Amino acid sequence: MTEYRPETRTVHIPQAPVEGSRPITVPIYQTSGFTFDDPAVMADAMESPSGPFVYARYTNPTVRSLELAVAGLEGGAAAIATGSGMGAINTVLLGLLKPGDHLIAQRSLYGGTAAMLADLAARFGIAVTHVPENDPAALRAAARPETKLVYLETISNPMALVADLPAMCQAARELGILSVVDNTFATPLLCRPIEHGADVVLHSTTKYLSGHTDVVGGLAVFADAGLHERIWHFAIELGAAADPFAAWLVTRGLQTLALRMERHCANAAYLAARLAEHPAVAAVHWPGLPSHPSYELGRKLLPGFGGVFSFDLAGGRAAGERFMKAVRLALLAPSLGGVETLVMHPATTSHRSLTAEELAANGIGEGTVRIAVGIEHPEDLWADVSQALA
Ligand SMILES: *Cc1c(COP(=O)(O)O)cnc(C)c1O
Repeated sequence: MTEYRPETRTVHIPQAPVEGSRPITVPIYQTSGFTFDDPAVMADAMESPSGPFVYARYTNPTVRSLELAVAGLEGGAAAIATGSGMGAINTVLLGLLKPGDHLIAQRSLYGGTAAMLADLAARFGIAVTHVPENDPAALRAAARPETKLVYLETISNPMALVADLPAMCQAARELGILSVVDNTFATPLLCRPIEHGADVVLHSTTKYLSGHTDVVGGLAVFADAGLHERIWHFAIELGAAADPFAAWLVTRGLQTLALRMERHCANAAYLAARLAEHPAVAAVHWPGLPSHPSYELGRKLLPGFGGVFSFDLAGGRAAGERFMKAVRLALLAPSLGGVETLVMHPATTSHRSLTAEELAANGIGEGTVRIAVGIEHPEDLWADVSQALA
């Protein structure tokens, strides 16, 4: 470099060689592209999902670490990390579907996904039929020649319904259609949908996988390498790629996922049991309670139910509003899956535009509270929730 002038030398920073040792943590490759010695190698890299790195919209070593980690945990062939959960969902749906196609989705869906499916139907002519998440006969009855996929969520929001993945994925396979499963609420520690026959597994890594409420990200895992390669080419066109620093935050969070999930599940179980005994609470929608519609299936399918569930306050809308103002430790906030306990009152926040009838159709009452239980001490959480109920 000494042969160059300062203007040139400031641009071309030498890279410290890392030889004879390796970094312990995943390095952040904060670079948009890679340089090559050989144009033929560069040309190959642009066509191969497992070839040399070329451009960060294709993937990047930090992003690839995250893709390899989650693909491995889910038992898939390969993954694509994206800039958000919705980015992963759209990469897969738009990559698989074309106008005139039909898809079958479970009735109870994450809000952003429900909005996206309505938009696909209205603007792209992709018809959608909704069926219950545990009814393979309804799935078979809804199928048409142009049906391409069934879309499921392992555990739903906010009622924590558990999808009958073995039965639904089996029915899909017999119909010759793909199964796409959003596994955000369960994480691969509670459920690996590919083991039950799913073709694609989706995550909002914003939630449990990162776990610290500091990043937005998504990921799609593919059971089959061929399908991954096809969607990888489309993902490059769509441009929903994950940023290296965001991917790094997810890998950092992922390292403690097992410990966090254990506490999320235990805390949620504890709060659900205490809430179920409280006179101000009319109902608790947690799959571990015999009153929950997914009680039997949940016990068969999942070793735990994560941290998100909902409960109905006997006092309706006014009680819901009062509860939100009264909590001190739990935070009134959207999202879930982080270490902090968050609460939300759908009737006055996320679903405020709906009438009581429309709320009911979504399985939400006027007094329904959704809680995303964090990893705090369970007695501190119960003290906060019970003082807010009083
Ligand atoms: C949050 C969430 C999404 C959307 O993810 P973003 O990262 O917010 O784009 C999709 N599905 C489920 C189940 C979610 O909880």
